[in-house]
This record gives sequence, structure tokens and C-alpha cells, in this order.
Amino acid sequence: MRILVVGGAGYVGSTSVETFVDAGHDVTVYDDLSTGHSSAVVRPARLVRGSIEDRAHLEHVLREDRTEAVLHCAAKSLVGESMANPGLYYRNNVGGGVALLDAMRAAGVNRLVYSSTAAVYGEPRRVPIAEADRTEPINPYGATKLAFEGAMRWFAASHEFRAISLRYFNVAGATERNGEDHEPETHLIPLVLRVAADEATHVQIFGQDYPTPDGTCIRDFIHVRDLAAAHLLALEATGEGDSSFEVYNLGSAAGFSVREVVEAARKVTGRGIPARVVKRRTGDPPVLVASSRRARRELGWQPQHSKLEQMLADAWAWRLTHPTGYARPPRTDGAPLDRSVSDGRGERQVPRPGAAASV
Ligand code: UDP
Repeated sequence: MRILVVGGAGYVGSTSVETFVDAGHDVTVYDDLSTGHSSAVVRPARLVRGSIEDRAHLEHVLREDRTEAVLHCAAKSLVGESMANPGLYYRNNVGGGVALLDAMRAAGVNRLVYSSTAAVYGEPRRVPIAEADRTEPINPYGATKLAFEGAMRWFAASHEFRAISLRYFNVAGATERNGEDHEPETHLIPLVLRVAADEATHVQIFGQDYPTPDGTCIRDFIHVRDLAAAHLLALEATGEGDSSFEVYNLGSAAGFSVREVVEAARKVTGRGIPARVVKRRTGDPPVLVASSRRARRELGWQPQHSKLEQMLADAWAWRLTHPTGYARPPRTDGAPLDRSVSDGRGERQVPRPGAAASV
């Protein structure tokens, strides 16, 4: 399959690209590198640098590549930032998403998988959350992801279009090549591992007075490898049939508390990892766990790596081989690699339509 991965230089996107390449697919990544990393794009996938808001450029790339299916992972995804700057989120996640849909329609590409979020549910009334449960996002991040799902639904209702949206919560773990490298980092597991690596003195536990067994919040963690496998199954499922829009939750069905994560990280890393309880963070529901029965039944998805210890061990291993994330080439045997080999690999200049530049 010829696949365009929009946002394929980010954490989830780059790992999906690895999975598609390993399965023998022909992959192009389209990314503005605002939060992604060019060296996260594994060969032989190609990297085209461009904005998701640039409809004409997207259409040009889709046509040039004769793309058959698109995975859309490009989004602004920080809740706090979305509250501070909703315009940025509506422009990028909704405006950019619609530009992608229009470009796909113009280029005759009618298969799309969307990397969505369980933030579309807001504060769940029950857990585990099922796909048909009420969607009431409580921040612009969740609202913009849900708005784009609405656009997908209506494209499928009005045009020949097969689309799947995958909703999930917390992603963790790494492959040998790709891992999590955000700046700023706000997520629990990478912050815990920073403490293990002596880059911070302690981890903060945001509240210990929640109605959960140990008083800390419970979250659903999925290994990024399992997520990548789900993306591939979903792309395959868009291969035939009538126009359709389907939603699948991806979750581990069991959650882990913040304390359990810290405790498991101590075991996996063999480091003390001091923790201090501080006050609750605004907007954190006590328990977020998704039911993925539908994905298991209809897509045949079987998470295989989502045990907490394995996710932590894989994330820790990636940290040890990439002590400065993607800022430097990965270490293999303790010696730095030649920068010319691993930097900006495969990046391709695709001319903007109407531009004179040659490929
Ligand atoms: N959390 C924490 N300390 C941190 C970061 C996160 O206690 O330094 C908690 C947070 O309150 C939430 C859980 O860990 O209950 C997961 O938070 P994260 O930001 O990783 O993901 P989210 O669930 O918000 O998508």
C-alpha cells in the first residue's frame, strides 16, 4: 500500500511508519517538524516538510505519490496550551484537518485513518468508556479532535470515503529506534524516567485524595507498538466496502494508578525515584479507562506489549540509548554515530505547486 503519514515524524506517527515499512508498505511522511524530528523517520520512508494547513501542497504530494491511504497523526495535543490558545488548536486541528480532507478529495484518495483521542469523551460517566458514550470534551484540545471527527463523518456521508477514527488515552513505551521526546514534557512516564536518569530531583504526584484505591488517578496506558499495529489494521480495514465512518477505542482495559507507575518504574530502573504529593492538577478526572472490545472484535486487534513493566522497560531502554532524545544521533555501542548518516535522513524537497524548484 502507498501510505501518506501526516505527522509521521512525531512519537505515534514515527512508530507507525516503522510498522508500515516493516510490513512492506511504501511510506511518505508529511510533517512540519514543529514538534516532530526528522531523524525519527526511518528509511526507506521519505520525508516531505510541509504544513497541514497547506491544501495545495498536500494535494500535490498525494498526486505525486499516487497515495492510496492516509494516516493522520498531525495535531496540537497539549491540553494546557489548548486552553491558553484555542485559535491555534482550531486552525491546526480543524482547519488543517479539513485542508487534508479537501486535498484527499481533489486527489481521489478516499481512505483515511485518524489518530484521535479519548479526550473527546470529557469527564466519563462510566468506565470503561465505550464508543457510543456521550462525547462532551472539556477543553479545546478534545473539542477540536471531535470537530474533525465530525468532518470525517460528513465526508463519508457525502462522498465516496472510508474513514476510521481511533480514540485512545496514554501512550507509552518505545521501539529500539523511536521513543518519546517532547519539549516541554508534561507526561507522567517520561517525567518519572527523567528523575530515574537524575535529570530532576523528584516526581510530583498530582493529588492523592481521588476516589481510587490508592488515592491517585488511574490511567489507561497503551504501548506505542500496539497503537502502531492498530493503525495498520485500521488502514487495511478501509480497503473495501461502502462509504463509512467508524470509531474504535484503543485501551488496555485495565488502568494503572500514578503510584503504581512510579513504583513499577523504581523496579524496572533500579533507581529510587523520589516522589512528592502536591495538589491536584486542574481538569484531571479520577479514572480514564477505555473499552477496546470493539477494536478487538472487528479489527482483530490484540495488544501484545501493553504490560506496565514492559512499557516502562522499553521507554527506559530508549532513554539510555538516546540520552538527549533526538537532539543527537542515537548511540549504538557507546560511541556517537556519524551525523551525516542519521540526520535528516531521506528528506525530500517536493516543490510547492507552481514553484520552479526541482525535486
Ligand atoms: N501526573 C502526575 N505527575 C506528573 C505528570 C502527570 O501525577 O508530573 C498524573 C496526572 O495528574 C494524571 C496522570 O499522571 O493523573 C497522567 O497524566 P499525563 O499528563 O501523563 O497524561 P493525561 O492522562 O493527562 O493525558
